[in-house]
Amino acid sequence: MSDTVPERTPEHIDVLIVGAGLSGIGAAAHLRRECPRKSLAILESRGAIGGTWDLFRYPGIRSDSDMFTLGYSFRPWTDARSIADGPSIRSYVADTAREYGLGRHIRFHLRVTHASWSSETARWTVTAVRTGPGEHGPGHETGHGAEDGSGHGTGGGSGAGHGKGSGEGIEEGAEEASGGDAGRGPEDGPGGPGDSGDSGETVTLTCSFLMACTGYYRYDEGYRPALPGEHDFRGPIVHPQHWPDDLDHTGRRVVVIGSGATAVTLVPALAEKAEHVTMLQRSPTYVAAVPSRDRLADRIRRHLPARTAYRIVRWKNVLFSMAVYRLSRRRPKLVKALLRRGAAVALPAGFDVDTHFAPSYDPWDQRLCAVPDGDLFRAVREGRADVVTDHIERLTPDGVTLRSGRRLPADIVVTATGLNLLAIGGMRLSVDGRDVELPRTLAYKGMMLSGVPNFSLTVGYTNASWTLKADLVSRYVCRLLRHMDAHGHRAVTPVAPDLEDRDALAPLIDLKSGYVLRSAGLLPRQGPEAPWRLYQNYLRDVRLMRSGPVTDGVRFTGAVRRPRDLP
Ligand SMILES: Cc1cc2nc3c(=O)[nH]c(=O)nc-3n(C[C@H](O)[C@H](O)[C@H](O)COP(=O)(O)OP(=O)(O)OC[C@H]3O[C@@H](n4cnc5c(N)ncnc54)[C@H](O)[C@@H]3O)c2cc1C
Repeated sequence: MSDTVPERTPEHIDVLIVGAGLSGIGAAAHLRRECPRKSLAILESRGAIGGTWDLFRYPGIRSDSDMFTLGYSFRPWTDARSIADGPSIRSYVADTAREYGLGRHIRFHLRVTHASWSSETARWTVTAVRTGPGEHGPGHETGHGAEDGSGHGTGGGSGAGHGKGSGEGIEEGAEEASGGDAGRGPEDGPGGPGDSGDSGETVTLTCSFLMACTGYYRYDEGYRPALPGEHDFRGPIVHPQHWPDDLDHTGRRVVVIGSGATAVTLVPALAEKAEHVTMLQRSPTYVAAVPSRDRLADRIRRHLPARTAYRIVRWKNVLFSMAVYRLSRRRPKLVKALLRRGAAVALPAGFDVDTHFAPSYDPWDQRLCAVPDGDLFRAVREGRADVVTDHIERLTPDGVTLRSGRRLPADIVVTATGLNLLAIGGMRLSVDGRDVELPRTLAYKGMMLSGVPNFSLTVGYTNASWTLKADLVSRYVCRLLRHMDAHGHRAVTPVAPDLEDRDALAPLIDLKSGYVLRSAGLLPRQGPEAPWRLYQNYLRDVRLMRSGPVTDGVRFTGAVRRPRDLP
């Protein structure tokens, strides 16, 4: 008698989504709407849905794009505010999951480490490691918000996980004011052993189409440069990605290092209770005041049914933000002058706007920071906060000494120094036994990869709301799946044009921010023209992805033997 244990056939899913954030839940809802017969599962490494909007819990956490464009195309944002706080966005994502019955499709605490495509079977074999209850951050209320959303068991199979760290230090929005630029990365990669109490157990599934909705940064560690003298500092040094629940800043002096979106959000929020908050930046960022409520939207919503009003307001905001972006690129001097003037009138008389709010680069070379109702400027005007542009010499027991010799007293230091970029959630991909090197691939329509069959990834716009692109990607995948079903195709693979020097091509995320420049080597590339080039232009993408052909630049393969036909 043989003592070999028969191998269990892994569970098969038509479409497997990795990540239950804004993009993953949106993708699943689109699939429910447009391809209801496809079986579907979402693997999520944490114990909650919401991704970014569940992970980040720092005071004041909010969107900086308007919710009429950050919301899904198919589900109106009905809240009065157009700039919303983190918990409201999390609830919106959770309510969407509930509305579409997605809870039963989500399998929590499974981090996908490897996906391997076989052309023979036209299937991905996906390996995930079961993560511990503390996986990345505060959200571990399994099933958060989804009606029946408990993480449930996954088909068998076992083997070693292949977590592969490729994180690279980034700063959000602008350079941070740290004295040293030695990135202090974690010892292990994001999928590395022991970063969050993984059980070591792996599970295996197969799927026909794989959607990576994994965001763009590492969840285990934010970017945090080493600060000279940090061990001398007596108070807590806190990164916004891991805000301690019990940190009380009431009546304390806080120095926030950074000048990106997170810093400009934190400073006015902390200043409500702190004795004083200083935003310490190495160089300035463009900051623009935007209304937290959209009065025109309110009027439109009063008179029209919710869906119609939402559609109109969404388009209004899309067109307005595109116009601002276009003006910034064509008339940078004019936009610079307007932004400078906006800051100057909102700040106290005599404030040195040129040092603290007038960057040397052009608007939209890096992301522009929006502050709702000018709350940052108000905090400065009222003397509760100030901005210092300088370099850190070192931390001392009770503050920060700057290169200029100035001293900033501090009880708490916040390192709003950004995120660590991570493509496709650290998953290793292989196609017919060969590892896919992401930087050697070309992004097709910004959402598939050359040479990688039946795979999509969701990366939002850098100059507009993430969800605008995420919605287009999901709808495109649905169109593609329907097309393939109608024509009996089993696989679709983008086929890149022959290009001389791939290394000279722009990366998928093409901003001049320090983090993108430093991380470019980790990302897929873009080609010189459509469908391989990203124009960061929603209107153009609507034409390309909603009504353009699904057959350009790809190779379809049909009649592939299914596993049960194999000898
Ligand atoms: C503080 C902050 C504020 C922001 N504000 C805005 C804004 O105002 N407007 C805007 O357009 N964008 C904003 N962004 C960008 C933001 O990330 C997107 O808006 C959006 O939330 C991204 O959604 P996502 O689902 O694609 O990714 P995420 O929110 O990052 O979710 C990804 C999910 O995938 C899971 N995951 C990742 N890898 C794996 C894996 N290997 N296996 C299993 N699960 C995995 C993660 O646990 C997570 O739940 C902001 C980002 C941050 C950090």
